[in-house]
Amino acid sequence: MTTTVQRVVHATTLIDFGGARILTDPWFSEKPGYYHGEASAYATMADLPPLAGIVISHGHYDHCDLRAMAGYPDKTVPVAVNRGMGARVRATGFTDVTELDPWETTMLGPVRVTAAPASHGVPEVTYVLQGEDTSVFFGADTQRIAALDEVARRFAELDLALLPINGLSVRPMFNKQLVMDAAEAADLTSALRPRLAVPIHYAYTAGPVRDRLLLKLDRNRPHVYADAAADLAPDTAVHVLKPGDPLTVD
Ligand SMILES: [Zn+2]
Repeated sequence: MTTTVQRVVHATTLIDFGGARILTDPWFSEKPGYYHGEASAYATMADLPPLAGIVISHGHYDHCDLRAMAGYPDKTVPVAVNRGMGARVRATGFTDVTELDPWETTMLGPVRVTAAPASHGVPEVTYVLQGEDTSVFFGADTQRIAALDEVARRFAELDLALLPINGLSVRPMFNKQLVMDAAEAADLTSALRPRLAVPIHYAYTAGPVRDRLLLKLDRNRPHVYADAAADLAPDTAVHVLKPGDPLTVD
């Protein structure tokens, strides 16, 4: 069974476990203050190949685009969400929605999904997705917290980690970072020891004025993460993917 991954845009990725495709944190539309910063691999959810399931880490618009989800034709596709998000997703028409707390598990078709800890200022989970013979960690946009080390203890053989790197802080909380930065993502890579790692969540922009006045973004580009991971986690192969480029995981 071959597993592949595509970065769609931001934290939206498409992981194909031998034909069972899981979409992470769908964000397809844009609005003032929320721009992809690069061309999305798919314009809308209706353009996606058929899905086996969707995972959503938290309720922020750029990770849970409810209007885009309403446009997905098959509302019977199962969806895993963090605890508390079920009603909002069901309101878009999806009928099979499971809320998870960290370490709770559900099946999306043949893919086993386990929620894992996160810290982001709002309720959030990360996920471990397991196909027949492949395990993937999806880091959403969490901070680098010590609780994530438990992922490595419970899932000793991860094939792939998808990790955010933009280090976002938002006024008036400039001192409260909400997302791990490239160096912290490299540190998490060394803790998780995946065979492969792909940085996500770095091209987003709020526009030039808002970026300057409202946000603090780690302008470290993916190569900074790749360099730091090469030092801290030399056994992990880092791949920087353009939107839509497939990477074979096994
Ligand atoms: Zn968020």
